[in-house]
Amino acid sequence: EFRENTVIVVLGASGDLAKKKTFPALFGLYRQGFLPNGVHIVGYARTKMDETEFHKRVVSHISNSADDQDLTSKVEEFKALSTYVAGDYEDDKAFQLLNTRLEEIESKYGSKERNRLFYMALPPSVFLPVAKGLKKNCYTTEGVVRVIVEKPFGKDTDSCRELVKGLKEQFSEEETFRIDHYLGKEMVKNMLVSRFANVALSTGFDKNSISNVQITFKEPFGTEGRGGYFDEFGIIRDVCQNHLIQVLSILTMERPVSFSAEDIRDEKVKVLRSIPPVERADTLLGQYVSANGKPGYLEDDTVPKNSKCPTFAALTLWVNTPRWEGVPFILKAGKALNEAKVEVRIQYKDVTQGIFKDIARNELVMRIQPSEAIYLKFNAKTPGLYSRAIPVEMDLTYKRRFADSKIPEAYEALILDALHGDKSNFVRDDELEAAWKIFTPILHWIEGKSGQAPRPVPYPYGSRGPKELEAFITKYGYKRANAEYSWPVTNVA
Ligand code: NAP
Ligand code: NAP
Repeated sequence: EFRENTVIVVLGASGDLAKKKTFPALFGLYRQGFLPNGVHIVGYARTKMDETEFHKRVVSHISNSADDQDLTSKVEEFKALSTYVAGDYEDDKAFQLLNTRLEEIESKYGSKERNRLFYMALPPSVFLPVAKGLKKNCYTTEGVVRVIVEKPFGKDTDSCRELVKGLKEQFSEEETFRIDHYLGKEMVKNMLVSRFANVALSTGFDKNSISNVQITFKEPFGTEGRGGYFDEFGIIRDVCQNHLIQVLSILTMERPVSFSAEDIRDEKVKVLRSIPPVERADTLLGQYVSANGKPGYLEDDTVPKNSKCPTFAALTLWVNTPRWEGVPFILKAGKALNEAKVEVRIQYKDVTQGIFKDIARNELVMRIQPSEAIYLKFNAKTPGLYSRAIPVEMDLTYKRRFADSKIPEAYEALILDALHGDKSNFVRDDELEAAWKIFTPILHWIEGKSGQAPRPVPYPYGSRGPKELEAFITKYGYKRANAEYSWPVTNVA
């Protein structure tokens, strides 16, 4: 259902997320004609600024070349439908002023319905007071109210429960849209289709054929002065507990009864509940140190001296379902590594020995970013008068195959879903809880809440990770293909 006459209120409109993601996504949707008729955008935050200053921020991350007249006029139209209200997060009067402003805007809707979408681009410390203020002062019963919330959803199982409960006192599960922006990424969405629309792929997608799976997140930069924030969370909360576990659940869930939001999320919850908490023995933690002129984590002035916060983690998870029993799923995530990459690498078992020796294993790789691709590494006969097998690849590189398609930004896709009321790509309350239960015990261990905190092993800035990584993944059965293998065609980056 597509709701006309919606006011989108961005709370925390002066912040980083709003500037870099929310407003550019809203503009992207507007430009492509995806925002509903009668839409209006209202920014809200404490910072005092006039409309000109606000508009400057709204468009600061929209790339606009002067010669693109069409874009320039769209930007002007977009500014014209955005306004700003300054106010506090814990003050009923301020929210009443916001409400008055919303009513003024809505008065032009006449007798038609009026819908409000609240987007909380705010630090979690004010989620609850803002939710209260909105419910008390800015709620409408003359249309649909929806609230988008951003991570972090707590720091462990208990704090997550508390936050979820607090928000539920104001807005129902039906009204709440919890963002994990990985669910808006094209390749993550494609995983469902690829898995369930292909007999060729779904056959052998289990413990009988698959040896091990790696889900990898690599970032080529460190905290670069924002370490204060990072140090409170660490790489496991920042990336594994949310983004990578979401990818894992979609990869391992059973076939949903339908593609409806609840059917999909029911299956995700089921598989998450089949994963026991990560064991300490299945953990490798790292922290980057200076190399090649780049500073180490502890040299970031905003990081507490002697911090044991992991900036790299490899964690092996086990999915206790008949399909996946015994298959290790290795989540790997790190900052200050050698490249930027997010991918799923499914490694199949060895082919039965006898006729082949030392032959590479099949691998199915789903590259989520950069440059979306799915490729299957498989073995073929070397062409010509040889009988040797060589590893080759079947490749679906999006930029080549879908040269004319524009891949949307994750935030564009998600905001559009929220406007439509489609919750398939948002995180349900029980899903969140199941995900936290997997990580809470090791997080408490890492923080020294259950004995001595472990010290992460060092790795040089710009490397592939700790030197211990090789042995770690080998322990779970990963075999690196012979080094001869290389991608022969020019890379489409
Ligand atoms: P931010 O810039 O620190 O905060 C957003 C706005 O909230 C600020 O402009 C400020 O506005 C207000 N604010 C900041 N600290 C506050 C405090 N202690 N008490 C009350 N108000 C405060 O945060 P952000 O980076 O935009 O992130 C917003 C949310 O999105 C967070 O939950 C974050 O974890 C999540 N997130 C961010 C990113 C990203 O790329 N930045 C990515 C994914 C998720 P006023 O002072 O004007 O009121
Ligand atoms: P790859 O980038 O060679 O990596 C293969 C695996 O080996 C990764 O799991 C990687 O681990 C690991 N690895 C890399 N260097 C290592 C080292 N020195 N020691 C131990 N392990 C190492 O990827 P690939 O899938 O075999 O593909 C080969 C090449 O083809 C890549 O350059 C890829 O980008 C390219 N390719 C391009 C396209 C395209 O452009 N359309 C499509 C398919 C493949 P980490 O992830 O932990 O580093």
